[in-house]
Amino acid sequence: TPSTTADAPTQRRLVIISGPAGVGKGTVEARMLQDHPEVWVSVSATTRAPRPGEVDGVNYHFMTDSDFVAMQERGGFLETAVVHGMARYGTPLQPVLDHLAQGVPTLLEIDIQGVRRVRERASELGLEILTVFIAPPSFDELVRRLAGRGTETAQQQERRLQTARVELAAEDEFDVVIVNDEVDRAAEQLWQLMAQEYDIK
Ligand code: 5GP
Repeated sequence: TPSTTADAPTQRRLVIISGPAGVGKGTVEARMLQDHPEVWVSVSATTRAPRPGEVDGVNYHFMTDSDFVAMQERGGFLETAVVHGMARYGTPLQPVLDHLAQGVPTLLEIDIQGVRRVRERASELGLEILTVFIAPPSFDELVRRLAGRGTETAQQQERRLQTARVELAAEDEFDVVIVNDEVDRAAEQLWQLMAQEYDIK
């Protein structure tokens, strides 16, 4: 059983950001980290192959399928997902608990399904979470950003749009909404939230 620190007086909430694909949550996070490198961001594990330029332990912890499954079976992940029916992805649990126990501002960026899985398990793990939805300024703007991603068939685009509608509707489940109309402003809002949560002056 993983150790928890639910009783520690300094325990802060784990901040989780999520939002629709294409909303720019990774960009907002990267922008905040430029100014505030003291924030620790969870590095996911995956069984997919590294892409050119990706560094093990930085972009992902790259793992074999059998190592991933073994870690999963011993309760080593906060949440896992199989993406595109192929590769496994997961958030290693112990680093999250360790950083929270040390009072380090701790951030997770995961998809909406992942947030739901964490929400379901949080109390069992003695975790408190603060969920942040990164929203587009409008549905039309999200559509524009998705279209900007490049070469897709009309059918693929239609599927993406449908997914975007469904994901936008998840906003109500979140504690806080940050509108990503301008990256600098959204990043500053995210930092303010973390600073407040972790009592950083
Ligand atoms: P990619 O292979 O392009 O880096 O990521 C593919 C998908 O996996 C993305 O949608 C990304 O959000 C998702 N993903 C990456 N890490 C995790 C994780 O730890 N947990 C979950 N649930 N999804 C992840």
